[in-house]
Amino acid sequence: MSSALLIPGVATACAQESQKAVLVGEKPLILSTWNHGLPANAAAMGKLNAGGSILDAVEEGVRDTELDLANLSVGLQGLPDREGITTLDASIMTGDGNCGSVAFVRQIKHPISLARKVMENTPHVMLAGEGARQFAIMEGFPLEEEVLSPKAAEAYAKWKETSQYKPIINIENHDTIGMIGIDSQGNMAGSCTTSGLAYKMHGRVGDSPIIGAGLYVDNEVGAATATGLGETIIKICGSFLIVELMRQGRTPQEACEEAVRRLISKNKNINDIQAGFLAINKEGVTGAFAVHPGFNFAKATSKENVMIDSSSHFKP
Ligand code: ASP
Repeated sequence: MSSALLIPGVATACAQESQKAVLVGEKPLILSTWNHGLPANAAAMGKLNAGGSILDAVEEGVRDTELDLANLSVGLQGLPDREGITTLDASIMTGDGNCGSVAFVRQIKHPISLARKVMENTPHVMLAGEGARQFAIMEGFPLEEEVLSPKAAEAYAKWKETSQYKPIINIENHDTIGMIGIDSQGNMAGSCTTSGLAYKMHGRVGDSPIIGAGLYVDNEVGAATATGLGETIIKICGSFLIVELMRQGRTPQEACEEAVRRLISKNKNINDIQAGFLAINKEGVTGAFAVHPGFNFAKATSKENVMIDSSSHFKP
């Protein structure tokens, strides 16, 4: 799934593929996972147009999703773990290699902003659990009351009737927002935020706050982000893998497809697993691929902000 313009007859970087067209993308450009990507992209582009940096833009964009009460997989309104507690994971990264993340954090409305504070105000990359909450208090973040949203409470009560725990992600139950963007000068940044798997074990952390798994950005090459069953994405260092494949000359689309192939090769119960990846290279060319049909993403340029269905390994 590429947004690129094709310029026929121009040689590519790969000598053996000299007949292949060069791909030229668009800048600025923002990509986000799932339907909530549309308003998130709009918020991110708004920030960029108002003079914010690409880092400001990817933070602002996903803050919008963290507040979306309709969303049960991002922010404090997200579905809880099996103890009935909502815990959040988030990460942020810039193209010059700076990054920050928080994992297993409670009572914080905007974990993405806390992840940015970890990046900017500590010598560390990642803070987890109680330590992350203490740091949030030090940074002046208000602690929210620990009450499930009405929708999450209802879903949790229903789940408790059987308490069946299967860490399976299907197309109905995952909504992490991963956002990657490039500005008109070629600076890149990305953000990823989630309440993770519904009814997970208390303390479980997914791919989203793990730099290289849920998110990776390198101005020299490109950026990638992931959604889906986090354990499978962590095991292949999914986002890092995609950026490194692009570094070796793959297009964003080829890199996303290879990452999905790798993920499939490492998992036997693939019928029960969904995962999807988005990528942008430094030219602003995009890629998207998923294990199963159903993954979609929002793509915003200075001209439009549209939903696109990703292609997938297994066909509809
Ligand atoms: N990747 C997230 C996690 O495993 C879930 C998701 O994308 O829905 O925590």
